[in-house]
Amino acid sequence: MQRLSTVQAMQQEADAARSAGRRLVLVPTMGALHEGHLALVQAARHHGDHVTVSIFVNPTQFGPGEDFEQYPRTLEADLAALQAVGGAEVVFTPTVEAFYPDGPAMQRTWVTVTELDAHLCGAHRPGHFQGVTTVVAKLFHACRPHVAVFGRKDAQQLLILRRMARDLNLGIELVGVPTVREPDGLARSSRNRFLSPAERAQAPVLYQALQATEGAIRGGERRTEALVEGLRRHLGTAPDARIQYASLVDTERLQPVETLPLHGEVLVAVAVYFGATRLIDNVFVQVP
Ligand code: AMP
Repeated sequence: MQRLSTVQAMQQEADAARSAGRRLVLVPTMGALHEGHLALVQAARHHGDHVTVSIFVNPTQFGPGEDFEQYPRTLEADLAALQAVGGAEVVFTPTVEAFYPDGPAMQRTWVTVTELDAHLCGAHRPGHFQGVTTVVAKLFHACRPHVAVFGRKDAQQLLILRRMARDLNLGIELVGVPTVREPDGLARSSRNRFLSPAERAQAPVLYQALQATEGAIRGGERRTEALVEGLRRHLGTAPDARIQYASLVDTERLQPVETLPLHGEVLVAVAVYFGATRLIDNVFVQVP
């Protein structure tokens, strides 16, 4: 496994691998790697034969007052974990200077996917997805992948990036990997470490509430107002949960659905604060 840190070295390596006929797969991460990330690396192996894992805490996707400075940075442990599980040919660790030569504040070129960021996380984190799409575009240009792998845990991110790839004719296939969870259902996240023991004990309520909503849909409930109400009520059973959003949206345009379609897919998504820690989770439900 080789580690590369400049855009030029990464491009040269990727070009050589492409010339050798390899199928390149990129797994973008912000580090602090856990089982969820490692599942992406495993999935990547099924989609190609040259895997690059990028580790970059991207400043432009954090808003003012968000946790860019506090975001966990555990590079040595991350490299050891990747080495131990195997499966990655390259670890790409660009510096902020490499990706934003004039500094993040001087970036003047942005990739924006309109409409899909109007709800869910996009409504509460202005500029976040523009930072994500822009940095992923940079990663695509540096790593030149045929395929890129993302977690379904960040469902809005995955759907926005798919749309970017389609709208810009990137010719890169985006693969979505199911969410990896703790035994009690809590989605693995780099931010779980910030939960107090009391908050950690309550945090499985996100997935429990999502599962209950999925069950209600399967049971025939089609009124989204009633579904959202039930979802909120369930989340509210955790005394320290502060709901940021709880929504049902369609998976094309990410707009709230008023009545469920008779056939098709709906995304049920929540964001909940426990203290200063913000957790998100979701389920994709095929409406029977
Ligand atoms: P992050 O480092 O948090 O930006 O995440 C990097 C990638 O890992 C994203 O595509 C995430 O959706 C994905 N990811 C994060 N947590 C999980 C999880 N619990 N299960 C599966 N994928 C995940």
